[in-house]
Amino acid sequence: MQLQVKTILNAIQHFPGFVFQDIRLQRHRDGRPRRIEIALDPHGGIPAKCSRCLQPAPGYDRLPQRSWLFVPLWNIQTFFVFAARRVQCATHGVVVEHVPWSDGKRPVSLAMMCFLSRWARRLSWRETARAFQTSWECVYRSVEWFVQWGLAHRKLEGVHAIGVDEIHWGKSKRADNFLTVIYQIDSHCRRLL
Ligand SMILES: [Zn+2]
Repeated sequence: MQLQVKTILNAIQHFPGFVFQDIRLQRHRDGRPRRIEIALDPHGGIPAKCSRCLQPAPGYDRLPQRSWLFVPLWNIQTFFVFAARRVQCATHGVVVEHVPWSDGKRPVSLAMMCFLSRWARRLSWRETARAFQTSWECVYRSVEWFVQWGLAHRKLEGVHAIGVDEIHWGKSKRADNFLTVIYQIDSHCRRLL
């Protein structure tokens, strides 16, 4: 089988309703790879969904093309490029469609925010930024998003034992320089709550 980048993308990041259209490598003057651009297109037969209720809705118009930073392929900066549609939702009026790799106006794809957040547990945020050719701020925002996502999807059922700890944060000994940290300490699951 001829392996194409599209084959890999469809295996790791398949978005129903969207297709990987065109993948281009841009080079520096001296020929070194500069960035990879992955253009996405709507799938012809599947209507767009309202970003607020996720219900299919008829198209209204199309916004200008924008790009999202994606996980680097072979450590070459990689971007998704897509012109989102606006839809006419029966409930919400004219709104931008649901774009499954994106969260609102963030310029970084969800996959890249997860990728950076995971590495930021092993490396410092500065090292993570350097290793993956992005900025400290991008790592910081990704971790922030990841933590918020984790809190919103946190399930507290089945917690039988907890441990409480207090850690000192910063220089002074004032009360707000101490954080109370609560862990689940069951034998099957130990995690920071
Ligand atoms: Zn809607």
